[in-house]
Parts: sequence; structure tokens; C-alpha cells
Amino acid sequence: MDYPWLQAGREQFVRLSAQLPHALLVYGSPGLAKHTLAMEMVAALLCESEPVAGEPRRACGRCRSCTMFSSFNHPDFHYLSSEQFVESRDNPDLVYTRRYLDPPEKRGKRKPRKVISVDQVRALIDSFALSSHSAAYKVALIEPAEAMNINASNALLKLLEEPSPGSVLILVGNDLSRLPMTIRSRCIALAVDTPEEGQVLSWLMAQGLSEATAQKATAIAGGAPLTALQYARSEEISGFERLLETLTGLLNRQLDPVEAREALLKLQALPVLLAWLQKLMNWMIRYSQTGDTHGGAPWRGYQRQFSALSRKLAGVSQAVLFELYDELLELRHQDLDVVNSAMLLDKWLISFARRLA
Ligand SMILES: [Zn+2]
Repeated sequence: MDYPWLQAGREQFVRLSAQLPHALLVYGSPGLAKHTLAMEMVAALLCESEPVAGEPRRACGRCRSCTMFSSFNHPDFHYLSSEQFVESRDNPDLVYTRRYLDPPEKRGKRKPRKVISVDQVRALIDSFALSSHSAAYKVALIEPAEAMNINASNALLKLLEEPSPGSVLILVGNDLSRLPMTIRSRCIALAVDTPEEGQVLSWLMAQGLSEATAQKATAIAGGAPLTALQYARSEEISGFERLLETLTGLLNRQLDPVEAREALLKLQALPVLLAWLQKLMNWMIRYSQTGDTHGGAPWRGYQRQFSALSRKLAGVSQAVLFELYDELLELRHQDLDVVNSAMLLDKWLISFARRLA
């Protein structure tokens, strides 16, 4: 599968590789295939074939190093990630993360950790201190970079300040604001931007989606192509429709807040629901500002359901919508592992119904 929106990032890497920095930070929203771009960069750095003068650095796919890399067996590739990240994905190359994670027998039944720990970073520093197994670089990938806790970041800082010769660090991050400035400022940043909607829609249709489905999926994925594709292939699209209908039912007093909450929690887990509600509040705020009902509106895939809901917005001030939005943000900042989902959602739905119905 090719991701045409990665082209700008690929070209930037080619320009950078003329005088390779010790640390690169690939960043952008989730669902843009940043991992793929980072792995292409890793493969290019590990490749042992002589770069052709004037040609961009890329993996040849044939040399000893490329063969080892693609058979998940390259000793000079170091991949640091969190247990939770690894468990939430099914890329075969995640097998590389095992070297820096507790083996299953040691983990036992505890929950997967969200963090990249200081022990992992120290182990990487030790590995980097040894000479590389081949003539090319030693490369480390740290993903998601914001999963490093503060001790891990501090340990990494030493490596950024005194890089091992012949080593390159590639950090991949979704949320730069969660990465210390001391780390960010020592990396060359490589941004992966959310592509134009037209490019997302044509890519999704090339993957076999109808235009209507592609539009709906793009709307709820916030324009991130991989997320949109994942949504289109699961229940998310109809789930989001049900969310719009449930909230309309709540405002029309066909449902009370408890019934609405029960219906919503059947659709999705709380973190996803809160993200959806936030997206919906964004739409409602934008609608109240522009009154736009179609054309370039992000909700046009859900035109019918959104229209029913937006009719309730006549006479509602933007201040009220902003307050509802902020209340939602507060909920999203709670530790969702420990709070009572039902109570949390009830609180917001009651507020929503009271202010808008
Ligand atoms: Zn090669």
C-alpha cells in the first residue's frame, strides 16, 4: 500500500541525508502512516550498498543488511516502544521491540504499560556504546516518543547531547506538546501533514470505498487517511450515526440522559466516545459560526443526521457551546482507567440536554 502524502517527508529525508543529523523527530497526527515513513528511513540508513552519487539514499532491498532487516533480524536496529503501543498494533516489525520489553513470562498478568521507561533507554545507551555489527549505521526508533516518562527523557537527553559515533535516533510522535523542549530542540523535525481532503478521498476510493463511505469516514477521522480506512472497515461509521441520532433523541426528549448514556456506551468505549463528542461539539460550534450546511462542511457525509441535530441550535449562544466543549475537555483529562464511565458521561449529557433542549 502506498501513501502518497508521505512524499514531502521522503523528500525532506533525502535532503537531510546529505548531512545526516544524529536525531530526527517525525511528527504529525495519528493515522498518517508516520511509522511507515520512519521504517523506510531506518531501512535506508541500514542499507550497506554504496549510495550512488546524486541519487537519494534509499534501501536497495537486496544487500545482506536489507535482507536481515526485512526478515526482522537486524542487530543494528533498536526499537523502543511501550507495551500498550505494541499491543494495540499488528505490524510484524513490532517484533523488534521485544528486545527492550519484558518477556511475557516476566510480565505475568499485569496491565500493559503505557510508558517507555528509563530502563529501556539505558539499555539502548548500552547497546549504542558497542560497535555496530555492520559498516552502516546503528539506528534507534523511539515510538511513540511522548510515551517516554520524565526519567526516560532525561536519560535520552544524554544520548542526544553526546551522540555515539555512527548512530542515528529517530523519534516518532503524535503530540509534540507532550515532549520536553530539551528533547525537541535537539532533533531535526520532519513534519507529516494531514493531506488535502481530495487526496484522502481519492486514496480511500482507491482502497475500494464508495465516495459516500469515504466522506463519512474522513469526517470522523479528522482527515487522517489510515484512521478513516480503519473506521470504514469496522462499525465506526454507523456508530457515529447512532451517536448523532441518540443526541437528537435526547434533545427531543425521546430519551432521558440515562437512556442516552446506555445507548452511547453500547457503541464505543468511553475514550472514543469522548473524542467523538468533542468532534461533534467542534462541528456544532463551526455550524453556529458559519451556518454552512453543505459544500465543504466536514459533516456533509452525515448531512441528514447532523441537520436534525443542528436545528436545535437556533437561538443557542456560542458561549453555551464553548462551555459544553470545555466540560468535555475536562472529562477527557480524567484518568479514564479509574473513573466511573457512566457517572462521567451522565454528567455531561445532563448538561448538554439542560442547555440545548
Ligand atoms: Zn540494501
